[in-house]
Amino acid sequence: MQSVAQLAHLNDLDLALDALKARLAEIAEALKEPVALRETRRALAAAGAELAGCRARQAEAEQTEQRAADKLIQAEQRLYSGQVRNPKELEDAERDVQQLRRQRGQAEDALLESLLCAEAATEAHAEATRKLARLTAERAAAVAALRAEQAALGEKLVAASARQAAVRGTIPAQLLATYDALRPRKGGRAVAALDGDSCTVCQVAASPGKLAAARDGNELVYCGNCGRVLWAE
Ligand SMILES: [Zn+2]
Repeated sequence: MQSVAQLAHLNDLDLALDALKARLAEIAEALKEPVALRETRRALAAAGAELAGCRARQAEAEQTEQRAADKLIQAEQRLYSGQVRNPKELEDAERDVQQLRRQRGQAEDALLESLLCAEAATEAHAEATRKLARLTAERAAAVAALRAEQAALGEKLVAASARQAAVRGTIPAQLLATYDALRPRKGGRAVAALDGDSCTVCQVAASPGKLAAARDGNELVYCGNCGRVLWAE
């Protein structure tokens, strides 16, 4: 049966296509951004946000400190000017000075804290930047190789699909339907060649009757063990 030979040929083409598609799927997976790179990118963004927050607090603390210092100068000038003589007013002026000194001290503490925070965030940001640069450079070569392989396999896939379509066009529809139904259930290989009297896939010998029928080629003969279509070359 000429058609069984064509089926065997189609099966080889289909297995090659399966392998091409599997490798292309692997490549697509490998081209996804690795976890380490994604995490470093995230760490860099977090360090940037942290740094911006520290700097905003720093600017605010600087303003608060400046305002408190200005007010303190005025309050001290008033207190020591000699113009305030009333004991109650003197007491109030003294209390204002004390309060403004506390405010200035608190603002200085906040400023120091924000400077330390900015220093740590700057370091974390620089560290993440270095790590990202290193990981990106390391990956560039791998990505280039994967993309080149992907492009080459993509061209092969187009050619192989065209050959597959051409061969399918020469096979009777009913036979194709049988083949298409059988192939997924047989791990991709629906047709098994005979080597002498044995099935080349499962190595089990076919009965003399099946062997004769397969060689006659007038009907589809299935391996009694693995269920594949037997093909006598
Ligand atoms: Zn078999």
